[in-house]
Amino acid sequence: MSSTFSLDPGADQLAVRDWLHGFAADVVRPAAAEWDEREETPWPIIQEAAKLGIYSLDFYAQQYFDPSGVGIPIAMEELFWGDAGIGLSIVGTTLAAVAVLANGTDEQIGTWTPQMFGTPDDLKVAAFCSSEPDAGSDVSALRTRAVYDEAKDEWVLNGTKTWATNGGIAAVHVVVATVDADLGARGHASFVVPPGTPGLSQGQKFKKHGIRASHTAEVVLDGVRVPGSCLLGGKEKLDERLARAREGVKRSGGRGNAAMATFEASRPAVGAQAIGIARAAYEVALDYAKTREQFGRPIIDNQGVAFQLADMKTRIDASRLLVWRASWMAANNQPFTAAEGSMSKLYAGETAKWVTAQAMQILGGNGFTREYPVERMHRDSAIYSIFEGTSEIQRLVIARAISGMPIR
Ligand SMILES: Cc1cc2nc3c(=O)[nH]c(=O)nc-3n(C[C@H](O)[C@H](O)[C@H](O)COP(=O)(O)OP(=O)(O)OC[C@H]3O[C@@H](n4cnc5c(N)ncnc54)[C@H](O)[C@@H]3O)c2cc1C
Repeated sequence: MSSTFSLDPGADQLAVRDWLHGFAADVVRPAAAEWDEREETPWPIIQEAAKLGIYSLDFYAQQYFDPSGVGIPIAMEELFWGDAGIGLSIVGTTLAAVAVLANGTDEQIGTWTPQMFGTPDDLKVAAFCSSEPDAGSDVSALRTRAVYDEAKDEWVLNGTKTWATNGGIAAVHVVVATVDADLGARGHASFVVPPGTPGLSQGQKFKKHGIRASHTAEVVLDGVRVPGSCLLGGKEKLDERLARAREGVKRSGGRGNAAMATFEASRPAVGAQAIGIARAAYEVALDYAKTREQFGRPIIDNQGVAFQLADMKTRIDASRLLVWRASWMAANNQPFTAAEGSMSKLYAGETAKWVTAQAMQILGGNGFTREYPVERMHRDSAIYSIFEGTSEIQRLVIARAISGMPIR
């Protein structure tokens, strides 16, 4: 692993970037408007990605373990430059895969992660189900219960999950449930629900403002029984963790923020997705400003427009620096002492919203129509101040990290 922060991703990583850019430009971008209108999972595009090896566990594992640390952000930026809705349909499975990789035993990883992706001829997707109607930002409030049936060595899950990407259409669902409600987030455990398990069903599918090609739905768990082996990490580890948490509660009377710490590590990747959207909108706006003439000259000849573009480019590059720094830190086991992961997601998410709004303005009336892609990019960008922790929650995490105070 490299110990010096470098902005040079290296030749291998640049080759991956160019390859993904080609896929995003040739396959993803041309299909973006159609799947946005259809509001359906773009299975043929995911299949194309699978045939090329872009939709596969191997591909993400390679990027994740790239020693530069920036393999994942580069991949995310290029795919989401193509289109965010399709991009999320392609990478949504990784949310569930990461949960298994982070919490599962080697055997669980070997059993479940291949089933999440399927094969190019028998495609599958996976879903990570944590959020609930009354537990969004406040993950510790989740109510889905997991009760152990010792006689059968089975866990019984009951509850309703919401906003799950790929929820209900997934082969494998990873469900976060509480096994001890008194412990808040420290009483949570994650379970794999295997394909076809009775009692799991899709509830409402949401009609959304943006990223409409990505499927988002409720997942209802009604007496879902899964084998004991589906508890990620295993029962022994859970029992030890619960005992430690109960001891901690007795000593301090407080609640932990382990869930926040886990999310912190995945946030730079989400920031990179936002950068892809922002860069795409900026490029459309720059081209337009150079060719659109009013008052007998290209509109970029006006400082008012040129300075807008200068600010857009500056903020995009600043976002990328924050994302790459956080990704490099995570890859080199550097602690996020100032919540650098949250910082990167906060700034990149807000930048995507701001840049896409500026791009619409630069395109004038055309920017407001679906004839041009910036309208879609603006809608897509809006989710980046909401999911994987809202912008307010990122600020809360940063404020706590820099102050050491329990700010609420
Ligand atoms: C398209 C989409 C896909 C998603 N995919 C998934 C998924 O795959 N899996 C999954 O588990 N979840 C998923 N989510 C859920 C997402 O993570 C939550 O929507 C998000 O965490 C916010 O929760 P909430 O919507 O309940 O908002 P709330 O928590 O109710 O927040 C409402 C508002 O209050 C603010 N707020 C709340 N608490 C505080 C505070 N302490 N200080 C200041 N402001 C505060 C928030 O910032 C926000 O502005 C998805 C959501 C969407 C929309």
